[in-house]
Amino acid sequence: MSTFSDLGVPPRFAKKLDERGISSPFEIQAATLPDGLAGLDVCGKAPTGSGKTIAFGLVLAVRLRKSKPGHPGGLVLVPTRELAIQVAKEISLLCDGTDLRVAMVYGGAGYGPQVRAVRGASIVVATPGRLEDLIERGDLSLGSVTIAVLDEADRMSDMGFLPAVRRILRDLPKQRQVLLFSATLDGDISQVVKEFQHDPRRHETKSEEAEPDIDHKFWLVNRNDRVEIVAQMANHFERIILFCRTKHGCDRLAKQLGAAGVRSSIIHGNKSQAQREKSLEEFRRGRSNVLVATDVAARGIHIDDVPCVVHFDPPADHKDYIHRSGRTGRAGSKGVVISLVDPSQRRSVSRLARDAGVEPEFVGPELDVSTNESVKVRPGSLGGVLLTVAAG
Ligand code: ADP
Ligand code: MG
Repeated sequence: MSTFSDLGVPPRFAKKLDERGISSPFEIQAATLPDGLAGLDVCGKAPTGSGKTIAFGLVLAVRLRKSKPGHPGGLVLVPTRELAIQVAKEISLLCDGTDLRVAMVYGGAGYGPQVRAVRGASIVVATPGRLEDLIERGDLSLGSVTIAVLDEADRMSDMGFLPAVRRILRDLPKQRQVLLFSATLDGDISQVVKEFQHDPRRHETKSEEAEPDIDHKFWLVNRNDRVEIVAQMANHFERIILFCRTKHGCDRLAKQLGAAGVRSSIIHGNKSQAQREKSLEEFRRGRSNVLVATDVAARGIHIDDVPCVVHFDPPADHKDYIHRSGRTGRAGSKGVVISLVDPSQRRSVSRLARDAGVEPEFVGPELDVSTNESVKVRPGSLGGVLLTVAAG
């Protein structure tokens, strides 16, 4: 078993990690850190929860020096605001004890604080749209960037950000290191690799231990019975995320749950940044144990110990199925993913599940002890079958 020091991480950074209980590198970190720290371009493919943030964050923290105001040396592009916040937080921790400051740049929030933060920052973590705004306004220049990171590149592609990403990367200095991380490296992503990376070292992790440990269940239930079922599940699981197709659907479900006595937090695109953060924080801290979300929340955010994810509405496609499901079973903990499937949706859900690499077996709504015993349930709740609504 290697240590961070063995991989070339200077002792003072390794020590800081150790103090946080992070002492053995995860697989993707062990694979990419030696190349990243040597200044080479790296192309990393790994599933969610595998520790990609530290894999690239350490390269920034170790290799960068304090930069001129408004001319960051490090740039991290991410698809969503939530991820920007999370990644910036992690990199700040990694930079603790250095004179590197980290700024966040994302849409849906005022310019003032971001502009001020960028001036003093050596590393900028940004969503592509707002970053281009700031560059256009002259608030920041990428002319001194020596390390650029693309995190969740596949998601940026799905969200239509690749044209902006390309424009940004094209304007970087020619002498720079590019680190690209993604759950998939096919299609458009392989083009970006070709265009912007120089002889990248490619690392894929697919060993058993890096794969999330997730039990996928498909329950046939009538649409009208779903609220009652998830209300019961909310009492059963310590924490649960419910995915809905639309913002309106989220609001409606939260209201219906409220009427059934279940408190929930909501996160979707119509909420302001402040509201979204408040919801996440409530959920993280356990003030509510139910998070009702649209797909915006499916990517990037990491919440420890979410034992159960429910597809309240089926996802739009197999990619969304994977992204939503990836909110559980993270960092080595076990998770259950439950799809609530109306009989009329059975065929389309089958197809989507297979495309996601899961062979669906449609059963009635029940949780049995054998599959469920290592998943965290709320104290006092039943360990066994507890759902009383009959199958559709
Ligand atoms: P990804 O970006 O690959 O989805 P993250 O970077 O968000 O994954 O990491 C998932 C979780 O694992 C985080 O809570 C992180 O702190 C934790 N983690 C990362 N690396 C290690 C490690 N080497 N040892 C213990 N925990 C780790
Ligand atoms: Mg990540």
